Amino acid sequence: MNGVANLALARQSSVGQIAFIDLKAQQRLIRERIEERLKAVLDHGRYIAGPEIEELEAALVARTGAKAAVACASGTAALIIPLLARGVDTGDAVFIPSFTYNATANAVLLTGATPVFVEIDPVTFTMDAEDLERRIAEVRAEGRLRPRAIIPVDLFGTPANYPAINSIAAREGMFVVADAAQGFGGRLNGVEVGNLAPITATSFFPGKALGAYGDAGAILTQNPDDVEAWASIRWHGTDAARKESVRVGFNGRMDSFQAAVLLEKLAIFDDELAARKRVAAEYDARFSRIARPQGHHDGAESGHGYYSLCVDNRDAVTAYLGAQGVPTAIYYATPLHKMPAFEAYAPKGGLDVTERVADRIFALPMHPYLTPAQVAFICDNVEAAVTAAG
Ligand SMILES: *Cc1c(COP(=O)(O)O)cnc(C)c1O
Repeated sequence: MNGVANLALARQSSVGQIAFIDLKAQQRLIRERIEERLKAVLDHGRYIAGPEIEELEAALVARTGAKAAVACASGTAALIIPLLARGVDTGDAVFIPSFTYNATANAVLLTGATPVFVEIDPVTFTMDAEDLERRIAEVRAEGRLRPRAIIPVDLFGTPANYPAINSIAAREGMFVVADAAQGFGGRLNGVEVGNLAPITATSFFPGKALGAYGDAGAILTQNPDDVEAWASIRWHGTDAARKESVRVGFNGRMDSFQAAVLLEKLAIFDDELAARKRVAAEYDARFSRIARPQGHHDGAESGHGYYSLCVDNRDAVTAYLGAQGVPTAIYYATPLHKMPAFEAYAPKGGLDVTERVADRIFALPMHPYLTPAQVAFICDNVEAAVTAAG
């Protein structure tokens, strides 16, 4: 073997296998505590509505400063429940970005309302407030639908432009549900996600920054009066005694095992967030001149669920990285308005910024257990890939 190959091998072995998201390293750290928690559920046997649910809701309130939290079955349930509670229905227009996970649109359509896709800002990849205003005006002028709600998305963890969007909603007599499925742990001007809009939905899907070992989500609110209706809707619309249905609901509950896991993960969340911030800062410093990493609104701090950047020659760059052992992913190659299920709602003329970003974006490994050697290896290879790809 020649010297160059030896050097490459030595470097590779100090770097080891790079995971895109490393749930195994996290589990090794807290395995015993999670086992204790799961055993407690096995012992009390209240698999649904066990004491872990209220304990988690209290812990979420303590962590975020929200007025109340309602644990639910998924991030999707956390979006649907507040829409149903406000009576969102056929004839209502709900404004969402097209550059998001499909759940944002599914939540709207499952209520019977119509999604209206809004353009994104080219720097933060979150809802463009000026385009939102234009599209609300268009819907009003057309007169077919009633502008009812806005769902901004904290894409990849960065808070959307809530100051602008909340004031548009207030002026238009609409309400805002923040889709913070990726946003937990983010802040805007020092205010935690959970308090940036009147209502916030988040997801604890295993791959999110705070993830369960199955499906789970939560709704955070500034108004404790919301809780009664939400708790009812997540339990088939039943009354407080769960005797009869007083409204339409569904099975939107979180189970006790997921709450048990989340309690232990929440306990280490802030240490993990600090580690994510270190990785993101290193990436930003290395990539800001050679690529276009996601930017953040003034005063916004991302929860760094994912780290994405735009390059003009994405296929060549991701192929190069893959060959070097750096896993990548694409969120999202296809914006919602181009998917078969939602294309009936595509705006005439498409969405230029959204489509341009979707063609160029990719995500790098982002998790708290990346070693400095791995981060350096990833950065070196992104630099080499972008330069080689020209
Ligand atoms: C993950 C996600 C959801 C849905 O969360 P689930 O827990 O999978 O139902 C909704 N919106 C966005 C932006 C997401 O990333």
